[in-house]
Amino acid sequence: MSKFWSPLVNSLVPYVPGEQPKMANLVKLNTNENPFGPSPKVIEAIQAELNDSLRLYPDPEGESLRQTIAGYHSVMPEQVFLGNGSDEVLAHIFYALFQHGQPILFPDVTYSFYPVYCGLYNIEGKKVPLTDSFEINPEDYKQPNGGIIFPNPNAPTGRYLGLEHVEAILKANPERVVVVDEAYVDFGGESAIKLVDQYSNLLVSQTLSKARSLAGLRVGFAIGHPELIEALNRVKNSFNSYPLDRLALAGAKAAYEDEAWFQKSCKGVISERERVTKALEGLNFEVLPSKANFIFTRHREKTGESLSKALREQGIIVRHFSKPRISDFLRITIGTPEQNDALITGLKFL
Ligand code: PMP
Repeated sequence: MSKFWSPLVNSLVPYVPGEQPKMANLVKLNTNENPFGPSPKVIEAIQAELNDSLRLYPDPEGESLRQTIAGYHSVMPEQVFLGNGSDEVLAHIFYALFQHGQPILFPDVTYSFYPVYCGLYNIEGKKVPLTDSFEINPEDYKQPNGGIIFPNPNAPTGRYLGLEHVEAILKANPERVVVVDEAYVDFGGESAIKLVDQYSNLLVSQTLSKARSLAGLRVGFAIGHPELIEALNRVKNSFNSYPLDRLALAGAKAAYEDEAWFQKSCKGVISERERVTKALEGLNFEVLPSKANFIFTRHREKTGESLSKALREQGIIVRHFSKPRISDFLRITIGTPEQNDALITGLKFL
């Protein structure tokens, strides 16, 4: 029976996260996790923190981690904002830094959280179509807007936009915050963080979920002008004064202190990505050039839906989107060499 609150509940359009199946033994290539796992130093740091004191609140400033991240990216700690995954960082950006009353521009297609945040905050989102080759065209971002956000590399396409084009968007919108969501930048892209001191309207978000293989720890951050960071802190403090829990603060710091592990992990993903790409091209797939830890691909004859179902029957999960323009595509996360072999073999026999 309908209650007085039913219209309100129905008006909330949620983000639907990728499936996290409970069954073991599945080849899980659907949510862009990193198959190589975090640095052992992260586990040690979390253990040490566990033995110490969960009784105490964490540092409300996350000072030590902010210093580590700032040092790593050659910025000041006041330029770093921490959140529970970059999803939370983005939620605060939509709320605090976009000019409500004018449309927020983002590509079509892109990360499906962006329209969800627009809906939750009751702000208008405007989808800007990608080119025929699924690229972002900076010229399309020269229209009135209340802010701009795009992932680089983009998701789910994996296509990367060179920094000179990012700069063109920044220059065309000096009075608007432009957010570059770099969740996947470490797999072959170049970070726009080096541009933050030159463009005060630039905010770059990153995550430890992908290249540092810590999706379960929920750590993300944004880097930008100290005043933009101050705005984000004001909003965050009004919801939850503690950016991260003690385990996340300790584990994330340790992840940044093991550069060798990070480099090895990224190289492993990149070389497997190139191997899977070649193998799929040999099986009559078109594969978009990717600088992410996934590929976006379609078979020249078979539908995306039929392929994803057939793989599922073999215990291999990939992501299929039913949106019109991309319904023939599959987004496939790069797994371990063994998982990727299972995928390639699975597709050979379809
Ligand atoms: N941005 C993009 C483009 C993503 O694909 C994801 C992961 N789903 C995120 C941000 C959020 O990642 P997290 O919250 O794990 O940091």
